[in-house]
Amino acid sequence: MSEVPVYRNYINGEFMAEPSSTIDVFNPANGQLLSRVPEANAGEVEQAVSAAKHAQKSWAAKPANERAGYLRKIANKIRENADRLARVITEEQGKVLGLARVEVDFTADYMDYMAEWARRIEGEVITSDRPGENIFLFHKPVGVVAGILPWNFPFFLIARKMAPALVTGNTIVIKPSEETPNNCFEFTKLVAETDLPEGVFNVVCGTGGNVGSTLTTHTGVDLISFTGSVETGARIMAAAAPNITKLNLELGGKAPAIVMADADLDLAVNAIKSSRVINSGQVCNCAERVYVHSSVADEFVSKITTAMAATTYGDPITQPDVDMGPLVNKIGLDKVAAMVETAKRQGGVVTTGGAIADLGQGFHYQPTVIAGCNGEMEIMNKEIFGAVLPIQIVDDLDEAIAYANASEYGLTSSIYTRDLSQAMRAINQLDFGETYVNRENFEAMQGFHAGVRKSGIGGADGKHGLYEYMHTHVAYIQS
Ligand code: NAD
Repeated sequence: MSEVPVYRNYINGEFMAEPSSTIDVFNPANGQLLSRVPEANAGEVEQAVSAAKHAQKSWAAKPANERAGYLRKIANKIRENADRLARVITEEQGKVLGLARVEVDFTADYMDYMAEWARRIEGEVITSDRPGENIFLFHKPVGVVAGILPWNFPFFLIARKMAPALVTGNTIVIKPSEETPNNCFEFTKLVAETDLPEGVFNVVCGTGGNVGSTLTTHTGVDLISFTGSVETGARIMAAAAPNITKLNLELGGKAPAIVMADADLDLAVNAIKSSRVINSGQVCNCAERVYVHSSVADEFVSKITTAMAATTYGDPITQPDVDMGPLVNKIGLDKVAAMVETAKRQGGVVTTGGAIADLGQGFHYQPTVIAGCNGEMEIMNKEIFGAVLPIQIVDDLDEAIAYANASEYGLTSSIYTRDLSQAMRAINQLDFGETYVNRENFEAMQGFHAGVRKSGIGGADGKHGLYEYMHTHVAYIQS
């Protein structure tokens, strides 16, 4: 077997000794072993949290603009290494190289964007009921953040947690997903080349049940910032409960796309197809179910079937022009396949795809459209996380909104219409964290990405995402 890199945890500004226990990381497109990464033990997690705790007060004491300067340095390092980082992401996660490059560039821009907030973090002065009193409200860092990451946008998620945490004066311990840790270690090498003070940024790698649960039950962690599935989010809430640790949870989605009779159908087809295919359908806010008006349903199904059937797929390294790569692992592939089989049994009509793609290697599922769905079917209710689009016919906007809202998820929603009043009615009545009109995801870094119901607690991005990394402190000053 050829030699592969063995990555090491990064604690208190140093890479640790070679790990005694490791996890193998594979390329989902061809099964090739890519690296071995640490399965950290409780002692290393302890070391990382205490390094972060030790560093936090002096880090917070630096002027915010000085802290932001480190983020800018890291952003530049990312840009200098963009091609290499994109390849690392593609190899371990399976997204196409173009998208991996977008992820890398966006991450560098995100670091710079959050750095800009350094001079904009504000408190308040509130009028008092007492004579001669001033009430001051401060926003202060929470302390030590544990950032627990998923595998689907593994590189960007580092920045989404690290950048707001650091600029507001927190220190952080990152746990990458054990599926896609290599990009995090390559990022960490770049951080280590800067003069970021020791202990401000730490990485401990391992499985969720081990490193994840040690972090989430740790009394030294002041905020758990987690992105991942609803099931893990629920476990983390339970783990955090005894310590009443503050939580920020970005969980799963089941985004409804509503296509009205007056929609620009070609625009809707292109946007929904792109959203279903990007990252092989493994995106928390991509279109997961369609409600189409009965008067345009046949035309929509026909056009989206043609568009999905034209989607190319394969190994994104050896075939860089494909539209999508493999699913992340066999568990993901089997889950998608099982959901499509259930949908068929429950009356869904597959108009294209509907089976595992046999390319000889890799976890590929054919791009799939399932028409004739109804609100009772599993595929209209559970997150698929694959390029499979179920479609249900509705007779009016009220029916579409009612079905859209009748979901345990509440992250993203979209509507396609040329009628502004219809769009506004949807925005007012859709119970979701985000609504897109005449386009699909992605979100803007200056917006706010958050879900209601089981899609999460709190949110990320923009001013409101930044303030999640601070607590408020009120002072009453009697003169
Ligand atoms: P996951 O929940 O399986 O794993 C996420 C992380 O949690 C991993 O690092 C894992 O090791 C860790 N983990 C697992 N069990 C743990 C435990 N008991 N305690 C602590 N940590 C634990 O999710 P995933 O499969 O990596 O990611 C896919 C999911 O993430 C999808 O549901 C997707 O919708 C969601 N997601 C949401 C957003 C968002 O912004 N809302 C963004 C990306 C992905």
